[in-house]
Amino acid sequence: MHLTFACSECQNTSSTDFDADTQHVVCGHCQRSIEVPRGAVDGQRIKACMVCPSRELFVRKDFPQQLGVSIVVLGIVLSCVAWYYHAVVTTFAILFSSVLIDVALYLFMGELVECYRCHAQYRGTADVAEHGAFDLETHEKYRQRRLRGQS
Ligand SMILES: [Zn+2]
Ligand SMILES: [Zn+2]
Repeated sequence: MHLTFACSECQNTSSTDFDADTQHVVCGHCQRSIEVPRGAVDGQRIKACMVCPSRELFVRKDFPQQLGVSIVVLGIVLSCVAWYYHAVVTTFAILFSSVLIDVALYLFMGELVECYRCHAQYRGTADVAEHGAFDLETHEKYRQRRLRGQS
């Protein structure tokens, strides 16, 4: 299983492998060691965030949004070129396939578990569905807390 997190000490993003026996996660930049809360990892399942240690996590597609957007933008640019040369069928074929590629990518991408509070990301864990999908209300709760400077 794999963890990606933002270090609260040096603000850098670190990633590390972990398993049920992992007791500390160490920032690769400043070597800060974070103690993993007991029971955060249960076998192959992630029960609580190893970093912050919130128990509120959500599941989302492991889809690089920028890549998705670039494919669509590229499709639009290419179809404009085709349109300019009066190739109507090609124009729509390009538009259609760029959307299709996006959908296919989305479907084949795996899922990751993310922490609402510190946005640590967990890949390769089992039973991710038990965390539920992204909930705006919970997200807002943590955002407000952050704005007020509470942890
Ligand atoms: Zn650090
Ligand atoms: Zn967290």
